[in-house]
Amino acid sequence: MVLQQSGVSSLPPPKGGGAEGFTHFMPYIVPFLLEGFWTAKFKGGDRMIAEVILKVAGFEKEQWPYRPRPSNAGPERCIRGLCYWAQGIKGKATPDRLLARMADSKWHEDLSFDLIRKSAFQLHSEQMRVECGEILRGGKPFTIRGMIDCLVTDLAGVDRLLEHKAIDHFSFQHYKSEVFPLDYLTQVVLYLVGLVKIQPEINEAILLIKNKNTSQYLEFFNHYDFENDRLEVFEVIGSDGKRRNGAVFDGLYRSAISKLQEVENHREAKTLPHRQYQIGSWQCDNCGFNQTCNSSYEEEFSSFTEGADLSEIEGIVTDYVRLTDFKKRTEKTLDEVKDAIKEVMKAKECKQGKSNGYLVSLSLQKRQSLDKSLIPPEILNDVQKETLVEVLNVKHEKLNKKLQKEVGNV
Ligand code: SF4
Repeated sequence: MVLQQSGVSSLPPPKGGGAEGFTHFMPYIVPFLLEGFWTAKFKGGDRMIAEVILKVAGFEKEQWPYRPRPSNAGPERCIRGLCYWAQGIKGKATPDRLLARMADSKWHEDLSFDLIRKSAFQLHSEQMRVECGEILRGGKPFTIRGMIDCLVTDLAGVDRLLEHKAIDHFSFQHYKSEVFPLDYLTQVVLYLVGLVKIQPEINEAILLIKNKNTSQYLEFFNHYDFENDRLEVFEVIGSDGKRRNGAVFDGLYRSAISKLQEVENHREAKTLPHRQYQIGSWQCDNCGFNQTCNSSYEEEFSSFTEGADLSEIEGIVTDYVRLTDFKKRTEKTLDEVKDAIKEVMKAKECKQGKSNGYLVSLSLQKRQSLDKSLIPPEILNDVQKETLVEVLNVKHEKLNKKLQKEVGNV
């Protein structure tokens, strides 16, 4: 069933392109061009388009207020970050370059869809609105709405949801080899729940992920069991012909709705949930709320209690002690072995040699470091950055000795 026929057969004109686009960007470009002209003419500088273009992307950005939506509901999205956003707390501004990178995802989608249209598959119902569920917001029912990318009809006339994502090379490789994109799959589930109200026979979806760097694709072919809230990814298929097994995920819809409700509850109570990610994790390092989160965490941390019963993690604590001890002893042995190799090589005055099929080489490298004693204190203060680090310490004298003996006997 075609809900909304697509009439697009070629790429749309670039947003802001042509004469219209030039007029649109005039207020942003002119000051930079004038400044660039002045710099080039009178200062010997050379400000060019490359320096201007990302700043324009920065000017173009819009601040989105928080709204419960399918793209925010996945399990990997930090709930504490969502709570900051929902409570109107401002995070660090998104870098201009990242904004430009995010904007080109739509271009990749258009390009992919244009290619699909030239195949035997039909695309339709693009950007159709769906109602994916309900939560309470300010004590009143609030409908979670979303917009699907489109529906795709195959040669047999079967309709499926098609969701497109364009991502960087690193994340793509991750999904290609082992990991499942749970946030995207959750979004797919929410859309399917919305879609089935309009087109009851749809229960399958294709999540198509494009590698922006290499133009490779990954297809996650999914079936959703609405009654049991169970998403089955049948298979992951790469455009290079490689395939890997799928997996089954239970409860994605339920946990998405309860997450969005939890954000609302915290918003109304003006509270925050615990950190979803550890200090120093890549998620926190890339998070716009990092500074706010760390400083409020200091306060929370000071109110934590001491002397709690942690017997439920007894096994993990023992593993930690054992592994820490093992690491210390192997590091020491490794240093000794390294010294022994270097000693022999220096005695032979060689910097490369062979031993039982192994190529052993020694090189001299220069590494740069700052001599802080030479930096004036006022400059040092300005450039020094304070970061929060969580330090875990496990001490148990008797257990340590016992373990040392155990490990020593291995
Ligand atoms: S800094 Fe980490 S824990 Fe805090 S909001 Fe960001 S991602 Fe979440």
